[in-house]
Amino acid sequence: MKTLIEPYKIKSLEPIYWTNKKDRKDILKKAHLNLFFVSSKNVTIDLLTDSGTGAMSASQWSALMNADESYAGSKSFDIFQETVRNLTGFKHVIPTHQGRSAERILLSQFQSKGGLIVSNMLFDTTRANSEDYGFQVLDLPCKEFFEDESLFPFKGNIDLIALEKALKNKKVTLVILTVTNNSAGAQPVSMENIKETKKICEKYSVPLCLDACRFAENAWFIKQKEEGFKNKTIPEIVRAMFDLAHLCFVSAKKDGLSHIGGFIGVRKESLSESCKARLILEEGFPTYGGLAGRDLEAISIGLKEVLEESYLRYRIDSTAFLHEKLHQAGVPVFNPSGAHAVYIDAKKFLSHLPVSSYPGQALVSSLYEYSGIRTCEIGSVMFGKTLENGKETYHSKELVRLCIPRRLYTQSHLQYVAESIISFKEKESSKVRGIKIIKSPPFLRHFTAHFAWV
Ligand SMILES: *Cc1c(COP(=O)(O)O)cnc(C)c1O
Repeated sequence: MKTLIEPYKIKSLEPIYWTNKKDRKDILKKAHLNLFFVSSKNVTIDLLTDSGTGAMSASQWSALMNADESYAGSKSFDIFQETVRNLTGFKHVIPTHQGRSAERILLSQFQSKGGLIVSNMLFDTTRANSEDYGFQVLDLPCKEFFEDESLFPFKGNIDLIALEKALKNKKVTLVILTVTNNSAGAQPVSMENIKETKKICEKYSVPLCLDACRFAENAWFIKQKEEGFKNKTIPEIVRAMFDLAHLCFVSAKKDGLSHIGGFIGVRKESLSESCKARLILEEGFPTYGGLAGRDLEAISIGLKEVLEESYLRYRIDSTAFLHEKLHQAGVPVFNPSGAHAVYIDAKKFLSHLPVSSYPGQALVSSLYEYSGIRTCEIGSVMFGKTLENGKETYHSKELVRLCIPRRLYTQSHLQYVAESIISFKEKESSKVRGIKIIKSPPFLRHFTAHFAWV
């Protein structure tokens, strides 16, 4: 059959909210043009993030009731630990309340060494946490990432030549591979690239850490696109990816198919002990780590459901469906289609705006005003900086991410999104004004900055 159907039936409903354009103009103004300040009841289709926003399955919901809320030695932790060990092969499993606390606890173990963290591209929270601990950060995306027309299937890869050069010449403390590469167009990283990265890391005795929030989506691309993996199962590919890493941290709000949670995986007993000491200070006892027993149960099931091929096929194909609709209509999208999101190139979409007037944020705001669809800027608002001398630095790309929550929307919702953006392009895009920053905090400024139209 040609028609893409959801590989599930709907058991429980939530309403979709409608607003009109006049109201949205007012809502946007009150939110200082920052969509993080807009109430969800004023959003029709919410593509802000895929983090914790998906739908849980009936078996996840029913597991909540069976959970054990004991402070120490909960049986829900035993199930969680066993699930993560089987999935990843990491012996020591440390639960955290979400991905960024896993990052903080793990990075704190290397803080005294200072130096540089090198990656294919750090995600916003990882970058902010690294800088907060005094690390320098260096993103080394592969050269195909910068080639707009290239359909190279693994644009999430790290540039291996640049990586080796950095390790040879600089004091590098940690290499982090983000799989899939969230800030780089949700592009996957190939097994070959992870393998070569590991080799280089071992040559220079630097640990390799996977930021593996989307391990299953990455594995799906390896199975489809990388030679030699067609006949491997998704769990086999996932395991092979993790086997190449010395350390990992994961936000369970993504491929954990859960609303909250995360974990750290380490192989060395001593590192596990020192992470747990810190965990008790920041999160809680090592058998719950900032989570309720019921969360541990939901994650344990989510980590299994996410490996189902029917689920992954629909997930990646529905992203490709939205990508294709926009691409066909001449909307400049990042190519090829990635995993959890479609990225619009705002520099091209609003080509009349200079980078200094933040075309990404201008597009996010004006698209909301036009359609009630909420998206997220991944550009110079997120990754640029105001230097001490008042000068601005800008990011290499100005992207707008249409991030698709897991199992939440149907194909007709995505069709509606595509039609709204195409209509916006035809009717409004040439009139969109630029944006200026009125107020912004020193870290993670996109969450709380205030903006105004130029
Ligand atoms: C979401 C995310 C994180 C942080 O996880 P949270 O659960 O949001 O704290 C880290 N890295 C990547 C690649 C992510 O997508």
